Amino acid sequence: MSIDEVRELAGLLRRIGPVLLDFDGPVCGIFAGGRNAAIASHLREVLADHGVSVGEELADDPDPLNVLRYTAHAAPRLLSAVEEALIDEEITAASVAVPTPHAHEAIRVCHAAGRMVVIVSNNSPAAIRTYLEHHQLTDHVRAIVGRAHTRPDLMKPHPDPVHRALGILETAPDACVLVGDSDTDIQVALATGVHPIGYAKRPDRRSQLAEAGAEVVVDSMETFAAAVRAASPLLS
Ligand SMILES: [Mg+2]
Repeated sequence: MSIDEVRELAGLLRRIGPVLLDFDGPVCGIFAGGRNAAIASHLREVLADHGVSVGEELADDPDPLNVLRYTAHAAPRLLSAVEEALIDEEITAASVAVPTPHAHEAIRVCHAAGRMVVIVSNNSPAAIRTYLEHHQLTDHVRAIVGRAHTRPDLMKPHPDPVHRALGILETAPDACVLVGDSDTDIQVALATGVHPIGYAKRPDRRSQLAEAGAEVVVDSMETFAAAVRAASPLLS
């Protein structure tokens, strides 16, 4: 954990309030350990059962969200079936997902500091709810904004999830940060006027998130938790 990073992030957090928090990455690895590829294969099987075979470019794609996107434009009549299959798999994955180190601490510190947290994710709301309940975090989160049912076109970097979160919070975008591990998180934050914070789960991601436009990049949620603590007079 870098003290300079804590100081820099605390300086930003002192000027803003709520935290929009991506789920897969900064909170847990819902698709870690090869689970993403297994779920993507399962979704391709659902399509195959209905006589739809994906093109070559998607045949080995390990990202189930890409299969969902593909279904929306290539086989819209099957979108509901694929969405439901994905939700079932995500709920199972969420119930065994390994927490990101210090992620729960970060959520609890925000709650203790009176700083609202909204999960803003491309995962299904049911899976996120399952995870939060499993870890007794439900009461620490103001709201869950997950993937809109059968509307993969509205997933981040589409601004819809961020706009929904801001509507729930009744807050101006520049009063919030969005913490995410993907370039698309940074893109949607910039597009909506929310302050983008990168979470680099691997060292090589740091420069990529910075290049995407993250104001601050942290390599551990411990840094984020420490910055929230430092920015909160009630806790220091
Ligand atoms: Mg993520």
